[in-house]
Amino acid sequence: MKILVLNCGSSSLKYQLFDMENEAVLAKGLCERIGIEGSKLKHQPACQDDVIFEDYLEDHDVAVKKVMEALTNPEYGVVKSMKEINAVGHRVVHGGEYFAGSVIIDDAVKDALEKCSELAPLHNPANLIGIAACEKLMPGVAQVGVFDTAFHQTMPERAYLYAIPYEYYEKYKIRRYGFHGTSHRYVSEEAARMLERPYEQTKTITCHLGNGGSICAVRNGKSIDTTMGFTPLEGLVMGTRAGDVDAAVITFLMEKEKLTPQEMDNILNKKSGVLGISGVSSDFRDIEDASEHGNARAEAALDVFAYKVAKRIGAYAAAMNGVDCIVFTAGLGENSGSTRRLICDYLGYLGVHIDSYNNSLRGKAMEISASDSRVRVLVIPTNEELVIARDTKELLDK
Ligand code: AMP
Repeated sequence: MKILVLNCGSSSLKYQLFDMENEAVLAKGLCERIGIEGSKLKHQPACQDDVIFEDYLEDHDVAVKKVMEALTNPEYGVVKSMKEINAVGHRVVHGGEYFAGSVIIDDAVKDALEKCSELAPLHNPANLIGIAACEKLMPGVAQVGVFDTAFHQTMPERAYLYAIPYEYYEKYKIRRYGFHGTSHRYVSEEAARMLERPYEQTKTITCHLGNGGSICAVRNGKSIDTTMGFTPLEGLVMGTRAGDVDAAVITFLMEKEKLTPQEMDNILNKKSGVLGISGVSSDFRDIEDASEHGNARAEAALDVFAYKVAKRIGAYAAAMNGVDCIVFTAGLGENSGSTRRLICDYLGYLGVHIDSYNNSLRGKAMEISASDSRVRVLVIPTNEELVIARDTKELLDK
């Protein structure tokens, strides 16, 4: 069975084609600047060189068509015809309270996604456009939606209710939803497998630390709390996102600086985080570099970041009445031994001890805790596309 996984952003489209016989990636690629001058498609077949097309991609229909041409091209394609593709799995950002798992997309699902668009105005409309493009260009091929929010639908009310008037939850569905669910699910399952423990009897704290970051408390295979909230702005300090701030700061700043809601939103989402504190960059590599060269604000940014992660790990150990393992994943979590060290240095009271040599390695799933560590600490590269492909296959097999 061959499954195409699509991740549509407002001006981008990422894809991976899987052969589910052995879960091999046959090809992957990225369309950028859809609808903007300078668009391009980078196609990466598994056993050949990358191919770059610089044609204008007017909209997502054109981009999907171009991807299909690349996948079926006699020279650098990986299938003879699109008929070989059995299903398409779509990454969908927001499933609201409608979806606690992945689903085959039909009209009712699309209606629900439309309703969730208000909650994720930058993402869900793009996901719907991608679904429509596939329906048009691959008629009769099953489409599956896999939601970033679904894994967190098991959170209890005490974790998802905000202490604002209840009517706003009823009226606007304002509550914690959580994101990166596909990643938290994948790495927590992988952790249990690596530690040879039953997933249903393991308390795991998963730290997805990339440009966006979130932490999840996974008790016995279920998300019971997570740091992102109503939107992906809440929680940790991120590349450009502020994470938690006293809500009063926002009204104060809006008054002082005469800011519109859009301008305030832009500051919190695009100009804050480690970029805002350091003034250097949103990229942790640049900040680590600046800090090593004595830049005090870069050092402060890393310090604030790691302190907040460590506090949340402590909070989730309390929420689960213990923790068996901590997992680091995503760009920073997988690659930055120094950040993992900064965080784990706060966790001595939990009995966390890091093995310096293993913590300096990169590029594969591994344990970085020392043999005397009471809590096992793992680095696991995330693979959201594989989860989407697996869910799609499972729904089709049913
Ligand atoms: P992601 O959003 O998961 O792609 O992660 C992107 C972030 O990972 C970037 O902001 C980088 O700062 C960070 N990152 C990637 N590689 C490294 C590295 N070797 N050292 C430190 N940070 C890294």
